[in-house]
Amino acid sequence: MNNPLLDTATLPSFSRILPEHVEPAVDACLADCRETIARLTEGVAVPTWETLIEPLDEVDDRLNRVWSPVGHLNAVMNSDTLRAAYNACLPKLSAYGTEVGQNESLMRAYQAVAAQEHLNPAQRKLLENALRDFHLSGVDLPTEKKARYKEITQELSRLTSTYSENLLDATNAWSKHLDDPSALAGLPESARELARQSAEQQGLSGWRFTLDLPSYLPVMTYADDQDLRRELYEAYGTRASDQGPHAGRWDNGEIMEQILALRHELARLLGFANYAERSLATKMASSPQEVMAFLADLAERSLEQARCELAQLEAFAREHHGVERLEPWDIAYYSEKLRLHRYQISQEELRPYFPISRVLTGLFGVVERLFGVRIQEVEELDTYHPHVRFFEIRDGASGSLRGQFYLDPYARANKRGGAWMDVCVNRMHTSRCDQIPVAYLVCNFSPPVGDKPSLLTHQEVQTLFHEFGHGLHHLLTTIDYPGVAGINGVPWDAVELPSQFMENWCWERASLDLFAAHWQTGEPLPDRLYTRMIAAKNFQSAMQMVRQLEFAMFDFRLHLDYDPALGGRVYDILEQVREQVAVIRPPAFHRFAHGFSHIFAGGYAAGYYSYKWAEVLSADAFSLFEERGVFDPAAGQAFRENILEKGGSEDAMVLYVRFRGRQPQTDALLRHSGIAA
Ligand SMILES: [Zn+2]
Repeated sequence: MNNPLLDTATLPSFSRILPEHVEPAVDACLADCRETIARLTEGVAVPTWETLIEPLDEVDDRLNRVWSPVGHLNAVMNSDTLRAAYNACLPKLSAYGTEVGQNESLMRAYQAVAAQEHLNPAQRKLLENALRDFHLSGVDLPTEKKARYKEITQELSRLTSTYSENLLDATNAWSKHLDDPSALAGLPESARELARQSAEQQGLSGWRFTLDLPSYLPVMTYADDQDLRRELYEAYGTRASDQGPHAGRWDNGEIMEQILALRHELARLLGFANYAERSLATKMASSPQEVMAFLADLAERSLEQARCELAQLEAFAREHHGVERLEPWDIAYYSEKLRLHRYQISQEELRPYFPISRVLTGLFGVVERLFGVRIQEVEELDTYHPHVRFFEIRDGASGSLRGQFYLDPYARANKRGGAWMDVCVNRMHTSRCDQIPVAYLVCNFSPPVGDKPSLLTHQEVQTLFHEFGHGLHHLLTTIDYPGVAGINGVPWDAVELPSQFMENWCWERASLDLFAAHWQTGEPLPDRLYTRMIAAKNFQSAMQMVRQLEFAMFDFRLHLDYDPALGGRVYDILEQVREQVAVIRPPAFHRFAHGFSHIFAGGYAAGYYSYKWAEVLSADAFSLFEERGVFDPAAGQAFRENILEKGGSEDAMVLYVRFRGRQPQTDALLRHSGIAA
C-alpha cells in the first residue's frame, strides 16, 4: 500500500493524506516499535547509549512523524471520517505507551545504561526522566494492578477525547442569525463583515454569529443589544452541559466525574495521595502546599485592587449609562466603554496598525535581533489549506538551517479554536540520522475580508508572539536527543517561560516601531495611541489576575481534594474557590467546568497554575532586558543559550539561575501588572 503517512523521509504530504491511511500507518509503526524493543531487550549483553537509546529514539521518532500530522489535521481540518480514524488509534497509542512504561526488561536496560560513565548531562537527564516515567507508568506494580493501570489510562484517553468532541460539537451547533441591521448596533465593521461572510457561507442573507471566539468576543465587547449579549453569553457558558439552548445534548457532566475518579485512582495506584501530587512529580513546583501558597499569596496581593477595579466599573456604568446592576454579560461591554472613556483607546482602533504581514515581519525582526537568527518564507510546499504558509529559520552567522515551521493563522469551520504550537518533527542526531525541528504554529485570527488584509488586535499580536516563543523553544534547540530537546522534558510549569517572555516585545516602542504601521497609509503607530495603549495596559489587571487564580485554584483543588466517597463536587469546589478569590460571580446556569478543556482534555490537569508560575519566571527574565536594554545582544544570547537551546536537558531552575544569575522573584510580575503594593 502506498501510504503517504509512512513516507517519513520528508515533511508530511498533507494533500495526499486521507483518513483511511491513518490506522494502517499507525499499526505498521507500532509493530516496528514493538519489534525493536523486543530485539533490544532480548540477549543484548550490556546495552549502551548507542545500542539501546539511539535505536529506540529512532523508532519512536518515526511514530511521532506518522502521528503528528494526523493529530494536527484532526485539530485544524476536522471531519467525521478523520475523527473516527484518529479515535480508532488513540487506544492503540495509549496501550503502547503503557506497555513500554511497564516493560521491566526495558527499564532494567535503561538502568544499565544510566549506571555507565561517559554520559553527558543531557543524556543523564534523559535517562533520569525515563526511569522516573517508568515508575509513573506503574512498572513496579504487581500484575493485576498493572492491568488496572492500563485500563485506566485507556479509559482516560477515550474520555478526554469525548470531552473535547462534545465541546467542539456544542460550539459548532449553535449560531444566531440576524436579518435586522439595527440588532448590530455598536459592533465594529470587522465583526459585522465576519458575520456577513458567515451567513453567506450558509446561503443566508444578513448576519450570522457563532460561538467561535472571533465572532463571540466582539458581540460581548461591543454589541449594544443587551439581550443579544445575554443570549450569546448563555449559549457559550453552557456549551456541552445540562443547561442552555442545547441542554443535555453533549453534556460533559458525567465525563468530568469519571475523569476525576479515574485520575484519583491512578494516582493512588502509584502511591500518591491524590492526582495533584502525581501531577507535581514531573513539575518544577515541589509540593501541593507550595502551589497553594503561591496562588494564595498572589490572590492576597491582588484581591483588594480587583474589588476596587470592579467598584470603579460599577460606578462608571451607573453614572454614565444609568445601569444599576451589572450582569455578567455586561462586564466586557462596559469595561470596553470605561477603557475608551479613560484612555480613549479601543482594540479596534489599533487594528489598522497591525496588518498580519507587517506583524510577522516585525516579529521575525525582533527574534533576529535578539537571538541572532534569520527567518524567511519558503514557497511551494505541500500544505492542507491555501492559508497555510511555511518558513525556515537559519543561524544568522553561519547560515545553517536550524528549523522550519508551518503557520496556519486564520479561523475557519472545523478548526479547533485558540492558538497553539505543536511539534511536527523533533530535532534528532544519531549516527544514522540528522534531522532539524519542525513546528506547527496555529492561530484563529479573523481571515482577510475582500481586499482588506487580516488586521490583528493588539491582543492577537500578543498571541502570535506568545506562540512564537513556544516555537523558538522547539526550533532553536541544540539538544540531539528528542526526549529532552526543545519543549520535550521541560516541566509544564516552566514551559510557558519563553512564550510569555516574548509577549513583552509587543509593548516596547523600539520593537513596535519595527512593524506597527497603518495598513493603508503606512503611518507608524502614533505617539498619542502608543501612550494611551501603555496607560491602558494594566486596565483591570487585578481583575484578570484573580480570574486566572480562580481557574488555577479550582483546577488544583479539584485534583487535590478529590474524595471517592464524595465524588468530584465540581461546582461546590468552584463555588468555594470563588468565595475566596472571585470578584465576578456568574449566574447559576453557567457551566464553566463543562468547557474547561485545558484540564479535562488538555495537559493542564492540576497544572493550570503553571501559567502564573511561568509568568513569574517570564516577567523576572524580562526585567534583565529592562535593566540592560530591550535588544541587548548579550542578554538575548544568554536567554538563547541557557533557556531556548537547552530545552529539557537540565533542571529548569538550574537553567534559569544560569541565565538570570539568581533565583526568580515575584516583584517584576506584580510591577508589570501594576499591582505592586
Ligand atoms: Zn503558551
